[in-house]
Amino acid sequence: MADKSRLSLNTATVNQWSLEECINGCVRHGIAAIDPWRDGLHNLGADVAREMLIDNDIKVSALCRGGMFTGNNTLECEAALDDNRRAVDEAVKINAQCLVLVVGGLPAESKDINDARQQVRDGIGKLLDYSRTCDIPLAIEPLHPMYAADRSCVNTLRQANDICDELGDGVGIAVDAYHVWWDPDLEKEIKRASGRILGFHVCDWLVSTTDLLLDRGMMGDGIIDLPSMRRMVEAAGFDGFIEVEIFSKKNWWQKPGNEVMETMINRFETYV
Ligand code: ZN
Repeated sequence: MADKSRLSLNTATVNQWSLEECINGCVRHGIAAIDPWRDGLHNLGADVAREMLIDNDIKVSALCRGGMFTGNNTLECEAALDDNRRAVDEAVKINAQCLVLVVGGLPAESKDINDARQQVRDGIGKLLDYSRTCDIPLAIEPLHPMYAADRSCVNTLRQANDICDELGDGVGIAVDAYHVWWDPDLEKEIKRASGRILGFHVCDWLVSTTDLLLDRGMMGDGIIDLPSMRRMVEAAGFDGFIEVEIFSKKNWWQKPGNEVMETMINRFETYV
């Protein structure tokens, strides 16, 4: 059973709310931390968000998200890098504990996934030159292989660990239960990630799932053994906030935000 004081609201969970509503919702429901998405942050304004977060003593477990490093040419890759540096600046502004990276899939019309993976490694390496000077750790989030073409060609914890080994300080891993629960090497690779786990995201995998992106389940409604995964990441030294991140277009995004928050807290305490 997880303690509510460890819960962080990933704002995608209440997509029906603006960032301002999310922050106020955290205050009302006694949630200690938040992970905002950048579009919401831009809408509110980073300065306003910063003030609200400090005034209400809400911690920022991460900023979602940077990444998307892959491109068809140098120009596109450089533009992506510029945007990532801006994301680092925004993370600094709101005192985020790390910047989550969804690294990007195949560039348009490419079929060369090895090249895409090399671009990702190079992109993270270049971003590190900047993020290290700002003290913002980068958290590579491996995504389920079903997203390899369009969102992330880093699909396993093993790949993420390999990149971290190669690039050294300033880069770690966000372990999202939805993306990695199926991995036969889960326990081994979480252990290998000891000391570099920067985030732990929870939701549930529904059987059957009706949408590859927007049909994530609330904890307890699916088949992921969340307590055992929590024990693994904690044995690997992770003691940070646990983010609830649920993309649910047809279900949870249709409900009143306060109902989602209440359910989320209950389920967190029971199923995580
Ligand atoms: Zn996630």
